[in-house]
Amino acid sequence: MNPIHLTWIIPLFFLSLFGFFAILSAIISRTGGYAPGWRIRCTTCGHHKPAAEAGIIRVAAAGTKYTLGRCSHCRKLRLVAIEKDPDAAAEHPA
Ligand SMILES: [Zn+2]
Repeated sequence: MNPIHLTWIIPLFFLSLFGFFAILSAIISRTGGYAPGWRIRCTTCGHHKPAAEAGIIRVAAAGTKYTLGRCSHCRKLRLVAIEKDPDAAAEHPA
């Protein structure tokens, strides 16, 4: 393969990746797609906060999901659980 092609493919790849996230965030800001009644919990220290505050989008209707995220308490990359907030569920019954 011509090495010129490689020098173009790499920046184009990142550009398209950036474009994907830009479009995704634009959709979220328009639809308000944040997750009310959900919270993220650090599996290391137990610190939790509302998912909307962390910018987490609800990806499933029920159940606990795990993802990598930066814990604001540990200040490190941790495995965080995305789960139904029992307090919010009590305040705003569906
Ligand atoms: Zn933590």
